[in-house]
Amino acid sequence: MLYQANSGQAAYLLFDVLQAQEQLRELPSFAELDKSTLVQVLEEAAKFASDKIAPLNASGDAVGAQLQGGQVTMPPGFAAAYQEFWQAGWPALSVAPEDGGQGLPEVFNQIMYEWLSAANHGWTMAPGLLHGAYECIKHHASSELKAQYLEKVGSGQWLATMCLTEAHAGSDLGQVRTSAKPHLDGSYLVSGTKIFISGGEHDLTENIVHLVLARLPDAPPGPKGLSLFLVPKFYPDGTRSRVVCERIEEKMGIHASPTCVLRFDEARAHIVGEPGKGLGAMFVMMNAARLHVALQGTGLLDAALQKASAYAQERRQMRAPPRVHIPVHGNNIQEQKNHSNMPTAGVFINKFATDLIVNHPTVQRTLETQTAYLQGLRVLAYQTALELDVAKLHPSADRRAQAASWCALATPVLKALCTDQGFRGISECLQVFGGHGYVREWGVEQHLRDARIAMIYEGTNEIQAIDLLIRKTLPDGGAALAAVFQRISTETPAVAAEADAVMSLARELASRSQAAPDLPYWVAQDFLKACGLVLLHWALQRLKQAKGDADQTDLLVHYQRWIAPELAAALQIIRTQCAAAQDLQPA
Ligand SMILES: Cc1cc2nc3c(=O)[nH]c(=O)nc-3n(C[C@H](O)[C@H](O)[C@H](O)COP(=O)(O)OP(=O)(O)OC[C@H]3O[C@@H](n4cnc5c(N)ncnc54)[C@H](O)[C@@H]3O)c2cc1C
Repeated sequence: MLYQANSGQAAYLLFDVLQAQEQLRELPSFAELDKSTLVQVLEEAAKFASDKIAPLNASGDAVGAQLQGGQVTMPPGFAAAYQEFWQAGWPALSVAPEDGGQGLPEVFNQIMYEWLSAANHGWTMAPGLLHGAYECIKHHASSELKAQYLEKVGSGQWLATMCLTEAHAGSDLGQVRTSAKPHLDGSYLVSGTKIFISGGEHDLTENIVHLVLARLPDAPPGPKGLSLFLVPKFYPDGTRSRVVCERIEEKMGIHASPTCVLRFDEARAHIVGEPGKGLGAMFVMMNAARLHVALQGTGLLDAALQKASAYAQERRQMRAPPRVHIPVHGNNIQEQKNHSNMPTAGVFINKFATDLIVNHPTVQRTLETQTAYLQGLRVLAYQTALELDVAKLHPSADRRAQAASWCALATPVLKALCTDQGFRGISECLQVFGGHGYVREWGVEQHLRDARIAMIYEGTNEIQAIDLLIRKTLPDGGAALAAVFQRISTETPAVAAEADAVMSLARELASRSQAAPDLPYWVAQDFLKACGLVLLHWALQRLKQAKGDADQTDLLVHYQRWIAPELAAALQIIRTQCAAAQDLQPA
């Protein structure tokens, strides 16, 4: 069963639940956008992901990217699909019109990439970094570099890489040793070895543009000594640069994405931005890039959930227990119940009869829980994507600042929660298949393998939690987070009590950390999860408001039954650790 992107559902979440059109109308660049055109864009993007990219997923996984003599060959069909993708203008969806793009809001780009990742994570890794590279060149490169590279990268004619990681420098990029020394005409020579570089070499495009973090000779140690350089595979005069793909990794998932060891051997380079400001230049696109990874989590969860839901409505095993105390929620499942031979008065009379496994409470609970997570996280991610544009383009400085603060706090939460839940949820979906999920036939084991990396790259989920609590919440006494919680509590008072409980623990952590500075580090992930579940609750309340109170709002019921207790557990862990630290005196 192939993944199907659902454009109708995305349009519903955007336009009916989030009132995206009203939000975008406040931004002069998007004031004239017409809803029917936007819906059509979603429909075409969904078709492309489902019809052109999803069919290459299983074969791409089986064949994988192949390295021979320094050249990487991508799996069959990948290059042709990529040609079609860039020629149709998809990579330039939210590139500015003056750079040859279509100038649509970021949220459409994010939704398209969610669908592409769900359809084929391996293929989508190649264009996944393009938009970030475009933004980085646009905001930091000299006009000469822009003239040579901006449109080609923005349009997707050339693909791009981000070369940060080295063997000894992963989360801690301050350890990067790759060097850059001044050369002729203001250029530099870059030398060093980068590892784990996605799409470092391939045959999808005629050129590849590498953005490389390196250290100038007189640079101070640590992150402040890093500068950013651009090294293409081929220079504009057609000569090849001294960049060699030494190896591609054999790995758990995303087999179709070449994860390269790249050696830079005095490769001629151009600086992007100012010396010593390399990390800052890369972080320009960090919120958008992390949101993109978050949506890899929801996309792959959707792909697995589609398969599990369909399987659960075909597979029959044993009798399901009679439902006496707990009502059945969910229209699909209600229908299934009516069609099944669910025992009621004549329980177990026919001992050889079987029920669809969707009628077994444990299977139904899995599907309900993952559906609530998926839909709620999507609403939250799409709102955050809208806020990215508000932060850049809103005429009011106050509204821009409010949106920037929302993005700064919601992005690490989404990156970690969507990818953790993506992996956990896919594993639950695999369980619905029993042994049939563990074998290749249904493709769900591939989703599980492919999804695992999203918890690691673009800043591990542990680093996201530290970012949220230690860098962004404790230093201002929780003021920025309190403002976000105030906003969602005003919109939906039902989340106010949970938000208050989290804020009160934030204050307690701030106070206890005076004597126990390591305390927040022990519980940062629980804190991120608690914040994420409050935001998820808000998102599900928004869905309920859109449907109207009279409607049976199952997702919210699933949240209360199966997810809210996880929030209580996260809060209890933090409380217990705070209590353990209460007798410590400030050093
Ligand atoms: C398939 C794949 C594709 C990738 N693509 C790219 C790419 O295109 N470009 C690129 O530059 N890199 C890429 N990476 C690298 C990726 O970003 C790093 O693997 C990641 O940042 C983690 O670094 P590390 O592997 O060295 O782990 P480490 O940093 O060594 O971390 C090991 C463990 O320690 C934890 N840890 C580390 N520091 C802290 C801390 N301060 N507090 C708490 N916990 C901590 C981590 O969370 C992790 O659990 C890719 C990696 C893979 C596997």
